[in-house]
Amino acid sequence: MDYNGLVYITNHQQTPQLQMRNKSEIKALSESPSGKLSYLLGRCSKDNNPLEALRLYDEALVNNVPLNVEHYNKLLYLCSSSNTELGLERGFEIFRKMESNVVPNEATFTTMARLAAFKDDPEMAFDLVKKMKEGCGISPRLRSYVPALSGFCKKGLADKAYEVDGYMIENGVMAEEGELGLLLRVSVGAGRVEKVYEMLQRLRGSVRQVSEETAGLVEEWFRSGVAEGVGVKSWDVGKVKDAVVEGGGGWHGVGWLGEGKWEVTRIEMDESGVCGSCGEKLVSVDIDPLETENFASSLSTLACQRETRADFLQFQEWLQKHGPFDAVVDGANVGHIKQNYFDFNQLKSAVNSTRRLSPSNRLPLVILHSGRVKGQQNWNQKNRMALQHWKESGALYVTPQGSNDDWYWLYAAISSKCLLVTNDEMRDHLFELLGTSFFPRWKEKHQVRLSVTREGLKFHMPPPYSIVIQESEKGSWHIPTVTGDDFETRRQWVCAHRIKH
Ligand SMILES: [Zn+2]
Repeated sequence: MDYNGLVYITNHQQTPQLQMRNKSEIKALSESPSGKLSYLLGRCSKDNNPLEALRLYDEALVNNVPLNVEHYNKLLYLCSSSNTELGLERGFEIFRKMESNVVPNEATFTTMARLAAFKDDPEMAFDLVKKMKEGCGISPRLRSYVPALSGFCKKGLADKAYEVDGYMIENGVMAEEGELGLLLRVSVGAGRVEKVYEMLQRLRGSVRQVSEETAGLVEEWFRSGVAEGVGVKSWDVGKVKDAVVEGGGGWHGVGWLGEGKWEVTRIEMDESGVCGSCGEKLVSVDIDPLETENFASSLSTLACQRETRADFLQFQEWLQKHGPFDAVVDGANVGHIKQNYFDFNQLKSAVNSTRRLSPSNRLPLVILHSGRVKGQQNWNQKNRMALQHWKESGALYVTPQGSNDDWYWLYAAISSKCLLVTNDEMRDHLFELLGTSFFPRWKEKHQVRLSVTREGLKFHMPPPYSIVIQESEKGSWHIPTVTGDDFETRRQWVCAHRIKH
């Protein structure tokens, strides 16, 4: 054991921790000074202790301990999160030192941009991002732009904020709800009506359903005097209709239509999508079949990488032979709804009800993991017969041992372009791989959820309209808010339409 290291620890740590030395600590103590510093700085991050980190840094300088980019980043991060004058001052000092010793990376610049924002200097935060890109050839991430963007927005400097936005677009970084919200707020504040319009369209295109905060901001806008004054009294109806068709439905993008005060309400839509406030009907935005096909093929590629390739290919062949289906049932999930064991009777009842949804009374495809059908010789005869019947009808696929059946039911439903019966909200790691552009839209139109009631299973069909910000041909707006995973909670929409005279 490195004796010096021990002394070093004992001098500066509280004694109770001394007794609880764990493996990583013992390892760190036996490492080089640089390794030790790394370990101790890591501990400062964990404890959020910038003062101790700065002390370690000063000590390292005295002892000529070589610092690498990770050491510097940890130090800068602690300085930026301290939100103190000292953190600010020392952060910039450390950065200057760093630049002459090591090559900064994305994390370095992003942290420095945060420090600049804390200094109330968004211009500097933006310069740092540009320097990262143009000077060092490092691609800034979304988080790198946020300090500059939010700094300009906070100061109400709309044009500067649009400049950051433009730079992001130019560099292929997509603003998310937080950033679009900032841009919307600064635009509302500055009365930049064309920009407010643009942000609403961008929220529609990429975010679709908004948080409570954004919804409040949208309401604030429509209630403002500026919103009242914007728009046209008459417009070319044919042109607007054409624009709607061209855009795929649910928006036209022609600009603010109508005149006068807006009526702004929070409302729930009825089953068919008719708004109780303005009486307009929400539309269903179609999914381009080609988009579905492309998605199915990329899903297949992914599944073949993640699953045993031969198994998945075999499944695809099987689907070719027995599909397409009208519905796919995620057997394991359906058998577990409201049960803490796998309830085959519940699955059976769901399969029978799903069959009744099919125009040709066709059995849905049931996907079950091999583990679920194991030991079926011990099942009661009725259930064994049901399983046998599904199998013989080409309506059961048992996924092999070691497989993740999620890939199977999802692929089957997407390639069959059919309904998918599951209460799985499809948010875990696997589904995150599928991205946010196509998959949420597909899910909204194809997922059937079930609830268990006293009267039996209740089916919750996909809504006949799209849950996305909609701009009507008359110029009204409907903005859906996000809801949690409880699908029985009714969704709130913001309706904004002109008050009729
Ligand atoms: Zn309405």
